[in-house]
Amino acid sequence: MNPEQLATQGVRKLTPYVPGKPIGELERELGISGIIKLASNENPLGPSPKALAAIQSALSELHLYPDGSGFDLKTKLAGKLNVGLAQITLGNGSNDVLELIARAFLSPETSAIFSQHAFAVYPIVTQAIGAIACVAKAHDGSRGTCYGHDLDAMARLISDNTRVIFIANPNNPTGTYLNQEELGGFLIKVPENVLVVIDEAYFEYVSEPDYPNALEWLDEYPNLIVTRTFSKAYGLAGLRVGYAVSSAGIADLLNRVRQPFNVNSLALVAASEALSDDGHLKRTVELNRNGLEWLGNAMTKRGLNFIPSAGNFITIDVDRSAAPVYEALLREGVIVRPIANYGLPKHLRVTVGTEHQNQQFLAALDRVLSS
Ligand SMILES: *Cc1c(COP(=O)(O)O)cnc(C)c1O
Repeated sequence: MNPEQLATQGVRKLTPYVPGKPIGELERELGISGIIKLASNENPLGPSPKALAAIQSALSELHLYPDGSGFDLKTKLAGKLNVGLAQITLGNGSNDVLELIARAFLSPETSAIFSQHAFAVYPIVTQAIGAIACVAKAHDGSRGTCYGHDLDAMARLISDNTRVIFIANPNNPTGTYLNQEELGGFLIKVPENVLVVIDEAYFEYVSEPDYPNALEWLDEYPNLIVTRTFSKAYGLAGLRVGYAVSSAGIADLLNRVRQPFNVNSLALVAASEALSDDGHLKRTVELNRNGLEWLGNAMTKRGLNFIPSAGNFITIDVDRSAAPVYEALLREGVIVRPIANYGLPKHLRVTVGTEHQNQQFLAALDRVLSS
Protein backbone atom coordinates (compact mmCIF):
# COMPACT_ATOMS: atom_id res chain seq x y z
CA MET A 1 0.00 0.00 0.00
CA ASN A 2 1.37 3.35 -1.05
CA PRO A 3 -0.13 6.00 1.24
CA GLU A 4 0.77 8.63 -1.37
CA GLN A 5 -1.96 7.22 -3.62
CA LEU A 6 -4.54 7.49 -0.86
CA ALA A 7 -3.84 11.17 -0.19
CA THR A 8 -5.88 13.85 -1.88
CA GLN A 9 -4.37 15.46 -4.95
CA GLY A 10 -3.82 18.78 -3.19
CA VAL A 11 -1.90 17.11 -0.37
CA ARG A 12 0.25 15.09 -2.77
CA LYS A 13 1.34 18.29 -4.48
CA LEU A 14 2.34 19.95 -1.20
CA THR A 15 5.95 20.28 -0.19
CA PRO A 16 6.47 20.24 3.58
CA TYR A 17 7.03 23.58 5.31
CA VAL A 18 10.72 23.96 6.16
CA PRO A 19 11.13 25.90 9.41
CA GLY A 20 14.24 27.77 10.50
CA LYS A 21 16.84 25.36 11.82
CA PRO A 22 16.55 25.04 15.62
CA ILE A 23 19.65 26.02 17.62
CA GLY A 24 19.71 22.63 19.38
CA GLU A 25 19.81 20.79 16.07
CA LEU A 26 22.84 22.72 14.82
CA GLU A 27 24.53 22.26 18.19
CA ARG A 28 24.09 18.49 17.85
CA GLU A 29 25.33 18.48 14.26
CA LEU A 30 28.42 20.64 14.72
CA GLY A 31 29.19 20.17 18.41
CA ILE A 32 29.59 23.94 18.82
CA SER A 33 27.95 26.42 21.18
CA GLY A 34 27.20 30.13 21.06
CA ILE A 35 25.00 29.71 18.00
CA ILE A 36 22.70 32.58 17.03
CA LYS A 37 19.42 32.08 15.21
CA LEU A 38 18.21 34.83 12.92
CA ALA A 39 16.00 32.52 10.92
CA SER A 40 12.40 32.78 12.08
CA ASN A 41 11.72 36.47 12.72
CA GLU A 42 11.56 35.92 16.47
CA ASN A 43 11.96 38.77 18.96
CA PRO A 44 15.64 38.97 20.03
CA LEU A 45 14.60 40.56 23.35
CA GLY A 46 12.51 37.53 24.24
CA PRO A 47 9.06 37.57 25.80
CA SER A 48 7.74 40.39 27.97
CA PRO A 49 8.75 39.81 31.62
CA LYS A 50 5.11 40.50 32.50
CA ALA A 51 4.04 37.62 30.29
CA LEU A 52 6.57 35.33 31.97
CA ALA A 53 5.25 36.28 35.41
CA ALA A 54 1.69 35.56 34.29
CA ILE A 55 2.76 32.14 33.05
CA GLN A 56 4.40 31.40 36.42
CA SER A 57 1.24 32.14 38.32
CA ALA A 58 -0.92 30.15 35.91
CA LEU A 59 1.16 26.97 36.20
CA SER A 60 -0.76 25.54 39.17
CA GLU A 61 -3.96 25.60 37.10
CA LEU A 62 -2.60 23.42 34.34
CA HIS A 63 -4.90 20.54 35.28
CA LEU A 64 -7.84 22.66 34.11
CA TYR A 65 -8.87 23.08 30.51
CA PRO A 66 -8.26 26.56 29.16
CA ASP A 67 -11.15 28.98 28.74
CA GLY A 68 -12.29 27.78 25.32
CA SER A 69 -13.82 31.16 24.56
CA GLY A 70 -10.63 33.05 25.49
CA PHE A 71 -12.84 35.64 27.19
CA ASP A 72 -10.14 37.61 29.04
CA LEU A 73 -7.78 37.87 26.08
CA LYS A 74 -10.58 38.74 23.69
CA THR A 75 -11.85 41.41 26.06
CA LYS A 76 -8.40 42.97 26.21
CA LEU A 77 -7.96 42.78 22.44
CA ALA A 78 -11.42 44.23 21.81
CA GLY A 79 -10.62 47.19 24.07
CA LYS A 80 -7.23 47.81 22.56
CA LEU A 81 -8.33 47.45 18.95
CA ASN A 82 -11.68 49.15 19.43
CA VAL A 83 -13.67 46.26 17.95
CA GLY A 84 -16.42 44.03 19.34
CA LEU A 85 -15.64 40.87 21.27
CA ALA A 86 -17.73 38.92 18.75
CA GLN A 87 -15.44 40.04 15.92
CA ILE A 88 -12.41 38.18 17.27
CA THR A 89 -11.32 34.61 16.56
CA LEU A 90 -8.37 33.27 18.54
CA GLY A 91 -5.93 30.81 17.01
CA ASN A 92 -3.07 28.56 17.99
CA GLY A 93 -0.82 31.03 16.19
CA SER A 94 -2.26 33.04 13.33
CA ASN A 95 -1.44 30.06 11.11
CA ASP A 96 -4.28 28.27 12.88
CA VAL A 97 -6.63 31.11 11.98
CA LEU A 98 -5.51 30.94 8.34
CA GLU A 99 -6.39 27.27 8.37
CA LEU A 100 -9.80 27.97 9.94
CA ILE A 101 -10.47 30.39 7.09
CA ALA A 102 -9.59 27.72 4.53
CA ARG A 103 -11.71 25.10 6.30
CA ALA A 104 -14.72 27.39 6.60
CA PHE A 105 -14.66 28.91 3.13
CA LEU A 106 -12.67 26.79 0.68
CA SER A 107 -13.54 23.48 -1.01
CA PRO A 108 -12.32 21.54 -4.07
CA GLU A 109 -14.80 23.52 -6.17
CA THR A 110 -13.37 26.89 -5.14
CA SER A 111 -10.08 28.72 -5.34
CA ALA A 112 -7.84 31.01 -3.34
CA ILE A 113 -5.54 33.68 -4.75
CA PHE A 114 -2.17 34.68 -3.35
CA SER A 115 1.07 36.13 -4.68
CA GLN A 116 4.28 34.54 -5.84
CA HIS A 117 6.91 34.85 -3.04
CA ALA A 118 4.10 35.10 -0.46
CA PHE A 119 3.98 33.44 2.95
CA ALA A 120 4.26 29.63 2.66
CA VAL A 121 1.22 28.87 4.77
CA TYR A 122 -1.26 30.13 2.13
CA PRO A 123 -0.58 27.27 -0.31
CA ILE A 124 -0.54 24.79 2.55
CA VAL A 125 -3.98 25.65 3.92
CA THR A 126 -5.44 26.01 0.41
CA GLN A 127 -4.17 22.73 -1.00
CA ALA A 128 -4.78 20.77 2.21
CA ILE A 129 -8.49 21.49 1.73
CA GLY A 130 -8.27 20.47 -1.93
CA ALA A 131 -9.03 23.98 -3.18
CA ILE A 132 -7.35 25.47 -6.23
CA ALA A 133 -4.36 27.74 -5.59
CA CYS A 134 -4.13 30.66 -8.04
CA VAL A 135 -0.72 32.28 -7.80
CA ALA A 136 -0.34 35.83 -9.14
CA LYS A 137 3.05 36.88 -10.43
CA ALA A 138 4.77 39.34 -8.11
CA HIS A 139 6.46 42.53 -9.25
CA ASP A 140 9.85 41.68 -10.67
CA GLY A 141 13.11 42.94 -9.23
CA SER A 142 13.36 45.88 -11.62
CA ARG A 143 11.09 48.31 -9.76
CA GLY A 144 11.05 49.93 -6.34
CA THR A 145 8.27 47.50 -5.44
CA CYS A 146 10.60 44.61 -6.18
CA TYR A 147 9.19 41.16 -5.39
CA GLY A 148 6.11 42.66 -3.71
CA HIS A 149 2.49 41.67 -4.38
CA ASP A 150 1.16 42.89 -7.75
CA LEU A 151 -2.42 43.74 -6.81
CA ASP A 152 -3.49 44.24 -10.42
CA ALA A 153 -2.25 40.76 -11.28
CA MET A 154 -4.11 39.41 -8.24
CA ALA A 155 -7.34 41.20 -9.24
CA ARG A 156 -7.11 39.72 -12.73
CA LEU A 157 -7.18 36.19 -11.27
CA ILE A 158 -10.54 36.72 -9.55
CA SER A 159 -13.18 34.44 -11.08
CA ASP A 160 -16.60 33.05 -10.13
CA ASN A 161 -15.05 30.32 -7.99
CA THR A 162 -12.70 32.62 -6.04
CA ARG A 163 -13.59 32.60 -2.34
CA VAL A 164 -10.46 33.88 -0.58
CA ILE A 165 -7.56 36.22 -1.38
CA PHE A 166 -4.56 36.07 0.95
CA ILE A 167 -2.44 39.22 1.24
CA ALA A 168 0.52 39.54 3.59
CA ASN A 169 1.17 43.15 4.58
CA PRO A 170 4.08 43.36 5.02
CA ASN A 171 4.92 40.15 3.22
CA ASN A 172 7.28 37.48 4.44
CA PRO A 173 9.90 36.69 3.07
CA THR A 174 10.19 39.87 0.97
CA GLY A 175 9.47 42.49 3.65
CA THR A 176 7.52 44.51 1.07
CA TYR A 177 4.36 46.33 2.07
CA LEU A 178 1.32 47.76 0.32
CA ASN A 179 0.38 51.33 1.15
CA GLN A 180 -3.01 52.81 2.03
CA GLU A 181 -3.76 53.90 -1.52
CA GLU A 182 -2.73 50.63 -3.19
CA LEU A 183 -4.58 48.36 -0.80
CA GLY A 184 -7.58 50.67 -0.51
CA GLY A 185 -7.85 50.80 -4.30
CA PHE A 186 -7.73 47.00 -4.44
CA LEU A 187 -10.43 46.43 -1.81
CA ILE A 188 -12.91 48.57 -3.78
CA LYS A 189 -12.40 46.28 -6.80
CA VAL A 190 -12.93 42.96 -5.04
CA PRO A 191 -16.49 41.57 -5.30
CA GLU A 192 -18.19 41.40 -1.92
CA ASN A 193 -18.57 37.62 -2.10
CA VAL A 194 -14.79 37.17 -2.15
CA LEU A 195 -13.06 37.26 1.23
CA VAL A 196 -9.88 39.28 1.54
CA VAL A 197 -7.49 38.14 4.27
CA ILE A 198 -4.93 40.77 5.22
CA ASP A 199 -2.21 39.10 7.22
CA GLU A 200 -0.60 41.71 9.47
CA ALA A 201 1.86 39.49 11.34
CA TYR A 202 4.42 42.33 11.40
CA PHE A 203 1.94 45.16 12.05
CA GLU A 204 3.61 46.40 15.25
CA TYR A 205 6.97 46.79 13.52
CA VAL A 206 5.87 48.92 10.60
CA SER A 207 6.70 52.61 10.84
CA GLU A 208 6.10 53.73 7.25
CA PRO A 209 3.57 56.60 7.43
CA ASP A 210 1.50 55.38 4.46
CA TYR A 211 1.11 51.86 5.90
CA PRO A 212 -2.60 51.15 6.41
CA ASN A 213 -4.16 49.69 9.53
CA ALA A 214 -6.57 47.27 7.85
CA LEU A 215 -8.83 47.19 10.91
CA GLU A 216 -10.05 50.64 9.86
CA TRP A 217 -11.58 49.12 6.74
CA LEU A 218 -13.64 46.51 8.57
CA ASP A 219 -16.82 48.60 8.77
CA GLU A 220 -16.66 49.40 5.08
CA TYR A 221 -15.79 45.91 3.85
CA PRO A 222 -17.71 43.03 5.47
CA ASN A 223 -15.65 40.60 3.34
CA LEU A 224 -12.42 41.59 5.12
CA ILE A 225 -10.51 39.44 7.64
CA VAL A 226 -7.43 40.85 9.38
CA THR A 227 -5.01 38.45 11.09
CA ARG A 228 -2.31 39.29 13.62
CA THR A 229 -0.07 37.36 15.95
CA PHE A 230 1.79 37.33 19.25
CA SER A 231 4.67 35.42 17.62
CA LYS A 232 6.61 38.35 16.23
CA ALA A 233 6.85 41.71 18.02
CA TYR A 234 5.23 40.29 21.17
CA GLY A 235 7.90 37.60 21.41
CA LEU A 236 5.64 34.63 22.13
CA ALA A 237 6.28 32.42 19.09
CA GLY A 238 6.80 29.32 21.21
CA LEU A 239 3.39 29.58 22.86
CA ARG A 240 1.40 29.81 19.61
CA VAL A 241 -1.26 32.48 19.78
CA GLY A 242 -2.71 34.72 17.09
CA TYR A 243 -6.10 36.08 16.12
CA ALA A 244 -8.40 37.28 13.38
CA VAL A 245 -10.64 40.32 13.43
CA SER A 246 -13.58 40.31 11.02
CA SER A 247 -17.33 40.89 10.94
CA ALA A 248 -19.14 39.05 13.75
CA GLY A 249 -20.76 36.84 11.10
CA ILE A 250 -17.42 35.62 9.75
CA ALA A 251 -16.04 35.19 13.28
CA ASP A 252 -19.04 33.04 14.14
CA LEU A 253 -18.28 30.73 11.21
CA LEU A 254 -14.57 30.53 12.05
CA ASN A 255 -15.39 29.72 15.65
CA ARG A 256 -17.62 26.84 14.51
CA VAL A 257 -14.69 25.05 12.88
CA ARG A 258 -12.21 26.00 15.60
CA GLN A 259 -11.17 23.24 18.00
CA PRO A 260 -12.75 24.09 21.37
CA PHE A 261 -9.44 24.51 23.23
CA ASN A 262 -7.14 25.57 20.40
CA VAL A 263 -5.30 28.17 22.51
CA ASN A 264 -3.68 26.82 25.68
CA SER A 265 -4.08 28.45 29.06
CA LEU A 266 -0.47 29.70 29.32
CA ALA A 267 -0.70 31.31 25.91
CA LEU A 268 -3.97 33.02 26.91
CA VAL A 269 -2.56 34.67 30.05
CA ALA A 270 0.81 35.47 28.48
CA ALA A 271 -0.79 37.17 25.48
CA SER A 272 -3.08 39.20 27.75
CA GLU A 273 -0.12 40.48 29.75
CA ALA A 274 2.10 41.04 26.72
CA LEU A 275 -0.62 43.23 25.28
CA SER A 276 -0.32 45.69 28.13
CA ASP A 277 3.48 45.78 28.26
CA ASP A 278 3.92 48.87 26.09
CA GLY A 279 7.51 49.38 27.25
CA HIS A 280 8.65 46.00 26.01
CA LEU A 281 6.94 46.53 22.68
CA LYS A 282 8.50 49.97 22.31
CA ARG A 283 12.00 48.64 23.06
CA THR A 284 11.41 45.83 20.58
CA VAL A 285 10.33 48.15 17.80
CA GLU A 286 13.19 50.60 18.43
CA LEU A 287 15.82 47.89 18.50
CA ASN A 288 14.44 46.59 15.24
CA ARG A 289 14.36 49.96 13.52
CA ASN A 290 17.98 50.66 14.42
CA GLY A 291 19.10 47.15 13.50
CA LEU A 292 17.31 47.25 10.16
CA GLU A 293 18.96 50.55 9.28
CA TRP A 294 22.36 49.32 10.42
CA LEU A 295 22.11 46.11 8.41
CA GLY A 296 20.85 47.97 5.33
CA ASN A 297 23.78 50.38 5.48
CA ALA A 298 26.19 47.50 5.92
CA MET A 299 24.80 45.79 2.81
CA THR A 300 25.00 49.00 0.78
CA LYS A 301 28.61 49.44 1.84
CA ARG A 302 29.35 45.95 0.57
CA GLY A 303 27.53 46.46 -2.70
CA LEU A 304 24.94 43.83 -1.80
CA ASN A 305 21.33 44.45 -2.83
CA PHE A 306 18.55 43.89 -0.35
CA ILE A 307 14.80 44.29 -0.46
CA PRO A 308 13.71 47.31 1.60
CA SER A 309 11.85 45.79 4.54
CA ALA A 310 8.96 47.01 6.65
CA GLY A 311 9.25 44.03 9.01
CA ASN A 312 11.84 42.64 11.43
CA PHE A 313 13.99 40.95 8.82
CA ILE A 314 16.03 41.85 5.78
CA THR A 315 16.18 39.80 2.62
CA ILE A 316 19.57 40.03 1.01
CA ASP A 317 20.57 39.23 -2.56
CA VAL A 318 23.92 37.47 -2.19
CA ASP A 319 24.34 37.54 -5.98
CA ARG A 320 25.11 33.83 -6.20
CA SER A 321 23.38 30.62 -5.21
CA ALA A 322 22.42 31.30 -1.58
CA ALA A 323 22.44 27.66 -0.43
CA PRO A 324 26.24 27.34 -0.02
CA VAL A 325 26.33 30.73 1.72
CA TYR A 326 23.65 29.52 4.12
CA GLU A 327 25.61 26.32 4.78
CA ALA A 328 28.84 28.22 5.38
CA LEU A 329 27.06 30.57 7.79
CA LEU A 330 25.82 27.52 9.71
CA ARG A 331 29.42 26.42 10.17
CA GLU A 332 30.07 29.92 11.55
CA GLY A 333 27.29 29.32 14.08
CA VAL A 334 24.82 31.70 12.43
CA ILE A 335 21.42 30.38 11.34
CA VAL A 336 19.60 32.41 8.69
CA ARG A 337 16.93 31.38 6.23
CA PRO A 338 17.49 30.29 2.62
CA ILE A 339 14.36 31.04 0.59
CA ALA A 340 14.77 29.13 -2.66
CA ASN A 341 11.47 27.45 -1.78
CA TYR A 342 9.87 30.91 -2.13
CA GLY A 343 11.32 31.28 -5.61
CA LEU A 344 14.26 33.41 -4.43
CA PRO A 345 17.33 31.13 -4.75
CA LYS A 346 19.89 33.94 -4.52
CA HIS A 347 18.42 35.56 -1.42
CA LEU A 348 18.84 34.95 2.29
CA ARG A 349 16.32 36.19 4.83
CA VAL A 350 17.95 37.46 8.01
CA THR A 351 16.01 38.39 11.13
CA VAL A 352 17.13 41.60 12.80
CA GLY A 353 18.78 40.58 16.08
CA THR A 354 20.32 42.42 18.99
CA GLU A 355 23.17 44.78 18.12
CA HIS A 356 25.66 42.09 19.05
CA GLN A 357 23.89 39.42 17.00
CA ASN A 358 23.76 41.71 13.96
CA GLN A 359 27.50 42.29 14.28
CA GLN A 360 28.13 38.56 14.64
CA PHE A 361 26.08 37.89 11.54
CA LEU A 362 27.89 40.53 9.52
CA ALA A 363 31.34 39.34 10.56
CA ALA A 364 30.37 35.78 9.61
CA LEU A 365 28.93 36.93 6.28
CA ASP A 366 32.12 38.82 5.48
CA ARG A 367 34.23 35.75 6.18
CA VAL A 368 31.96 33.52 4.11
CA LEU A 369 31.70 35.83 1.11
CA SER A 370 35.43 36.52 0.98
CA SER A 371 36.53 32.89 1.20
C1 LIG B 1 5.38 34.66 11.09
C2 LIG B 1 4.18 34.90 10.24
C3 LIG B 1 2.91 34.59 10.71
C4 LIG B 1 2.74 34.15 12.12
O1 LIG B 1 2.46 32.85 12.29
P1 LIG B 1 2.04 32.36 13.75
O2 LIG B 1 1.30 31.12 13.45
O3 LIG B 1 1.16 33.41 14.33
O4 LIG B 1 3.28 32.14 14.52
C5 LIG B 1 1.82 34.83 9.91
N1 LIG B 1 1.98 35.40 8.71
C6 LIG B 1 3.17 35.74 8.23
C7 LIG B 1 3.28 36.41 6.91
C8 LIG B 1 4.31 35.49 8.98
O5 LIG B 1 5.51 35.80 8.51
